[in-house]
Amino acid sequence: MQYDSLYDVVIAGAGPAGSTTAALLAQYGHSVLVLEREQFPRYHIGESLLPGTCAVLDLLGLSDQEMRARFWDKDGASWYWGQEDQLWDVKFSELGFQRNGLHVVRSEFDRLLRDAAQQAGASIWHGYKVTSVSKDTYGVIYVQGEDTARHPFTVQSRHFVDATGQATLLSASRKLKRYHPQLDHLAVWGYWTDVTSIDAHLPTQTLSAAFDTGWCWFIPLRNGTVSVGIVMQKKYIDALRASGTRAYYLQCLQRNRIITELLKGATLLSHPIRLISDYSYEASSFTPEGYLLVGDAAAFIDPIFSQGVHLAVSAGEQAAIALHTALTGEKTVPEALAQYEAFYKRMFSRMRTFVLFFYSMNASRADYFWKAKALLPEALALNEREAFIALISGQGELLSQHIHKHNHFTEERAQVLRQLTGQGPVLT
Ligand SMILES: Cc1cc2nc3c(=O)[nH]c(=O)nc-3n(C[C@H](O)[C@H](O)[C@H](O)COP(=O)(O)OP(=O)(O)OC[C@H]3O[C@@H](n4cnc5c(N)ncnc54)[C@H](O)[C@@H]3O)c2cc1C
Repeated sequence: MQYDSLYDVVIAGAGPAGSTTAALLAQYGHSVLVLEREQFPRYHIGESLLPGTCAVLDLLGLSDQEMRARFWDKDGASWYWGQEDQLWDVKFSELGFQRNGLHVVRSEFDRLLRDAAQQAGASIWHGYKVTSVSKDTYGVIYVQGEDTARHPFTVQSRHFVDATGQATLLSASRKLKRYHPQLDHLAVWGYWTDVTSIDAHLPTQTLSAAFDTGWCWFIPLRNGTVSVGIVMQKKYIDALRASGTRAYYLQCLQRNRIITELLKGATLLSHPIRLISDYSYEASSFTPEGYLLVGDAAAFIDPIFSQGVHLAVSAGEQAAIALHTALTGEKTVPEALAQYEAFYKRMFSRMRTFVLFFYSMNASRADYFWKAKALLPEALALNEREAFIALISGQGELLSQHIHKHNHFTEERAQVLRQLTGQGPVLT
């Protein structure tokens, strides 16, 4: 089926990156179509969200009150990691932030973001899988694929955004994808119920606890389950296959003293035990051929700091700003794309450097704090511990005070910035 309308922007993928881009572009008044291959609600991993993400949710019109009623308040993060032989934690409130992060059920969370994009005026077509994107000599983009009945379709647009997540539609087909050899990991996870070690009336934290061959995450969800996963080097995949995924998962958890303690008396749900590998990579360009790659479609780095959704919605926000300035003629297309690429590469590479440091060094807490401070040179008003909290809460980007006027610099963000640096934003 060939559709004749020419959209300002077509987006492939309605995850956090695609829905954020769509919602903000539609709010600006542009015509937006999102093509999503799945029907919603659909399962997704990535349940621990940073405080900085909540500031983007505001822009989509998602009420903070509603989000906190549906999901679980996350007031910090705790680790058993490096040279420390005890659990240590940080609280977001140490920086004076008004808001915590969240632990969410992604099927529900992603549906809320999708609905926000729809309410803003974007069209969302489910069951439409994009398979190719091309441009004619006049610059008209042809987005092609097939629907659930396997009928081919073509839609036309001025701009195209790849938000297909780990499917990496464009970077995989254009051979732009580079894996991180130091992060050749696999993750295996399941869901537990009857976990009595957590207090349902208190805010919770994301726990990351190292053991002899990897580390485990422990993320309590409001639906009465706890997401418990293991991350380890991919070289263990043969042992995992030999034992069977479920048996291997349980064996590894038993070797983790802290997780074993927390799961005493709990029941592993009969959901499938899920497995993923080869998930840490980066595209050599985030704007190849004039298309924009946002969120995981551009790059993903290990989940140790639970930063994936934050990177995705931040990329979505910046992609929407860039395309708005291009569509209104405020900037040329190359200028707008360069601005987006510079922002997202800087944000991503800062996290990449920090994640690699966290993994490669059997260091002390003080070393991790020092590294965070070194990565946020502008953060003059912060000590090392505060710099660490700023970085892992998704507020680090605010420290760049030169904020474009379309950057939705809300009063809350201005307050955070003043708190961290002693100065307000400079609009450019
Ligand atoms: C083991 C693991 C644990 C993680 N834990 C966390 C965590 O605790 N916190 C956190 O913030 N992040 C976490 N993440 C990362 C997080 O899952 C992702 O970063 C986040 O979902 C990225 O959002 P996105 O919108 O870019 O992609 P996605 O959320 O993956 O959305 C992409 C969408 O595109 C659709 N799609 C794919 N291909 C096509 C196509 N060809 N045509 C049309 N539609 C298509 C998909 O169906 C999907 O809906 C984790 C990741 C892993 C691997």
